[in-house]
Amino acid sequence: MSVASRPPRPRALFVAALLLLTLALAGAIALQAYRNFLGHKATAERVLHDYARLAAARFANRTEMNFYYENFSPAMDALMRAKAGEPDVSLPAPSRLPATTEPHAADFRKLARYTFRYNLRNGHLETAGTVPSLTVRKWLRDTLPPHRRTVYDPKEHLGAIVRTVDGLSRAIIYTVVNDNAGAPRTIVGLEEDARGLEPLYTADEDRAALWPRPLTGGVAYDSLGSVIVTEADGRELYRSPTQYAPTFSARDSFEHPMMGAMRVQVALRPDLAPKLVIGGMPRSNVPMLLSLLALTAGLVVAALLQLRREYELSRLRADFVSGVSHELRTPLAQIRMFSETLLLGRVRSDEERERSLEIIDQEARRLTHLVENLLHFSRSERRLTQLSPAPAPLPPLVSEAAEGFAPLAAARGVTLCSELTDGVVAPVDADALHQMLLNLLDNAVKYGPPGQTVPLGLTVADGRARVSVDDEGPGIPAADRERIWDRFWRLERDRGSAVAGTGIGLSVVRELVGLHGGRTWVEDAPASERGDRAGSRFVIELPLVPLAQAASGPGSVRADAGATA
Ligand code: ADP
Repeated sequence: MSVASRPPRPRALFVAALLLLTLALAGAIALQAYRNFLGHKATAERVLHDYARLAAARFANRTEMNFYYENFSPAMDALMRAKAGEPDVSLPAPSRLPATTEPHAADFRKLARYTFRYNLRNGHLETAGTVPSLTVRKWLRDTLPPHRRTVYDPKEHLGAIVRTVDGLSRAIIYTVVNDNAGAPRTIVGLEEDARGLEPLYTADEDRAALWPRPLTGGVAYDSLGSVIVTEADGRELYRSPTQYAPTFSARDSFEHPMMGAMRVQVALRPDLAPKLVIGGMPRSNVPMLLSLLALTAGLVVAALLQLRREYELSRLRADFVSGVSHELRTPLAQIRMFSETLLLGRVRSDEERERSLEIIDQEARRLTHLVENLLHFSRSERRLTQLSPAPAPLPPLVSEAAEGFAPLAAARGVTLCSELTDGVVAPVDADALHQMLLNLLDNAVKYGPPGQTVPLGLTVADGRARVSVDDEGPGIPAADRERIWDRFWRLERDRGSAVAGTGIGLSVVRELVGLHGGRTWVEDAPASERGDRAGSRFVIELPLVPLAQAASGPGSVRADAGATA
């Protein structure tokens, strides 16, 4: 008979590949989701930077207007009305300039330090009011002509320079007076304390908010951001009372250079910034993605493990079928051979006839034993095993099993020697105990050497009956002492070896012992512990009282309890 075919490994590999592909797919989806998140985040940040840019531009524009209408333009009007540009009119000091009709947030008359008149033809600089230092006068002479040429806007009749000179922040506002031929003749203007212009940064806050009303809902606009205004060279002129981190910030400068080329930086209030983005700032999905990925990986690993178990199980089943066929074939062949010998009258003596009948009997027993095992196994697979334990003296039951097995043992020259404690009574199912002992004895003979002695023991320990079967075989490695009790499991060295087996004998033993509320384990045979020879001892431990009684007392044993070594 051929060995049963192996389970379809390529299919298992295919499923494993599918699972790994699923994992890779989940990884790719997670990566894509993360990229999307980064894209959304970048877009939201761009939107916020755009809002900051918009606010900076609006702030610059609003402040320019305020400067122009509230301060620069009234100051130039007053100078013109006082005819300060005429060489034959004496230059009026700021306090003598005519007051403007409207009250202004930053009144130029209060802020002005001095007025000046600069003759473009001869470079003569005249001042009235607080006398500027020599440094300032030189700076004016050096700065005014090129500024007039390059920056001054003749259409607006206005130029402004905001700069810190000689330690003071100065706003120079001037206009150019032409001669009759229309050629520039005189620069006339005044210097103000640039810091005094501060009220103009916040004037008109309500009318010209930094962000259009529909964008911001009911929020007080300027509280959405903070502002810093600097001179062209970066010196600070103004900062709003509250300042926010420049996470979302933008810069701009006053549009008209003639307005003093000041610069402004606006930073969005970080906690309000997300409200400006429709749907809020995208939240990082990394933790969620990582946990989903970990979950998928966990599931895939679990599925792969399960697949491996399934594969292993189907391989073991295949070995089982092969083992059963093998175990059936040998005794059947023996029975056929010796029965034919008898039938054909080929025996030469009575002794030979006896011997042939003995062999037929042995092999029939072996077959019965195997079939019994298969029936037990199949019943336990379908959860149909039923036992009827009844208190019985154990020594006669153990002896009976040993005697029944003796012919099979003798066939391999094995001596069974029993050492049984008298009077041990325990609730057992006699057939089940018989089957268990036969299985252990069969293994001892099968895996031990021919001619060995197999001691069979019965003792009482810790209030339980212990039946043990020793052998002189190779023993069971410590790592396998639990697995050998699993269905179909055979030690590596025995798989495919000449020793036929099905891998169900010990699982039947453990199941039956469990149903008695007992335990099973394997240990080194005492002889091997002494170093004399190798060998194992298989132990069955059974409670001395019926299960129901034991369950009500302390130290009860579960009916389905497994055993541990
Ligand atoms: P099998 O039909 O293969 O003997 P069992 O369930 O009875 O199935 O045993 C499971 C495996 O445990 C065996 O295949 C063998 O590898 C190992 N085994 C069982 N009994 C012994 C023993 N007495 N000595 C060495 N190995 C044993």
